[in-house]
Amino acid sequence: MKQVIISLVCLLATSISFEEQATVLACPGDNTFTGSTSTDWGTSSNWSEGCVPADDGGAITGTITIASNCVVSSGNSANYTFGSESSLVIEDGITLTNNGTGTWSIDEMKGNGTYCENLPISGSLKPGEDCYGGLHPAFSEFNSSNVTIYVSGNNVVIETNGLPDHTSPYWADTNPLNIDPVCTTEAQMSPGDIDNFNGSFSLTIPIEPALAANSSSTGLGAIGIARSGSVIYNDEEGPNVPLDNAVGSLDCNGAHTGPQSYHYHLEPVAWSEDDQNLIGVMSDGFFIYGRKCQSTGTYPTDLDASGGHTSRTQHCSEEHYHYHIENELYLNEYYILFPGDYQGTPNGIN
Ligand SMILES: [Zn+2]
Ligand SMILES: [Zn+2]
Repeated sequence: MKQVIISLVCLLATSISFEEQATVLACPGDNTFTGSTSTDWGTSSNWSEGCVPADDGGAITGTITIASNCVVSSGNSANYTFGSESSLVIEDGITLTNNGTGTWSIDEMKGNGTYCENLPISGSLKPGEDCYGGLHPAFSEFNSSNVTIYVSGNNVVIETNGLPDHTSPYWADTNPLNIDPVCTTEAQMSPGDIDNFNGSFSLTIPIEPALAANSSSTGLGAIGIARSGSVIYNDEEGPNVPLDNAVGSLDCNGAHTGPQSYHYHLEPVAWSEDDQNLIGVMSDGFFIYGRKCQSTGTYPTDLDASGGHTSRTQHCSEEHYHYHIENELYLNEYYILFPGDYQGTPNGIN
């Protein structure tokens, strides 16, 4: 089950540009949020100058530094503009959470801290214009025990041990995540335990993936990496062998073992069931989400033939292309995870 922080979009406060506007501080000049009394932005004693930055109609001059975790309360409707004469600095390891309803325009955000704005986004602040400026915020959802993700040059490298992070009858009996089969049976299960496979995979994708001139079909084997750590397969079980023949072997997450590792074919209900949760990343670099989209809160109606569209997600307020699990029943009870085609350029998962 997702935690409540799913309703926040967070981004690192580095090299992010926002459009400019005009405002002033009642308390002009440099000011630092020290949090000496509480985490509340609106409490004067939490500020080094003993006054709260106020919205009185001109550009803020000076540097506003957030040196302690800070929350703009939902009752705060103040408007702020950080233009060319000022900057907002969020210090490393510090989070500024904006639950306010005012309009914030920030020309430049500095520091290595994190800015979170409660969704839906209000006002003119559009954080996340640079979601693809480095590691996309969605990568923070991947299980870091199984998956290592880093930027290398103009690429992102995703390395996984191939293991899932949830229960399955495909774990060896000795594994604490082993459960008795519910959606399959011992007799129908594919041979091999998760533990028996060397499922390590590596995928290298561009930092900012692009739509290709032509779509391309998915192949057998791994076509994406799920956030759990295990890989994603398409809707076939072998060369010209439809998944129908193997569906009885799938566990409740639409996954089974072989030939190289545990892999998903269907909606992985361990962490996404009829919702907008992140599923993983496909080999063309585009993310795939559950059957609903955060931009509308329901099933998208503008999907292309691959289940993709361009819209906002919970990870970025800018609109970017991404896929969804399509809300179309398969065999009257399942949802195929990603039959294809790729709308970007696929990369090897080896
Ligand atoms: Zn399979
Ligand atoms: Zn969407």
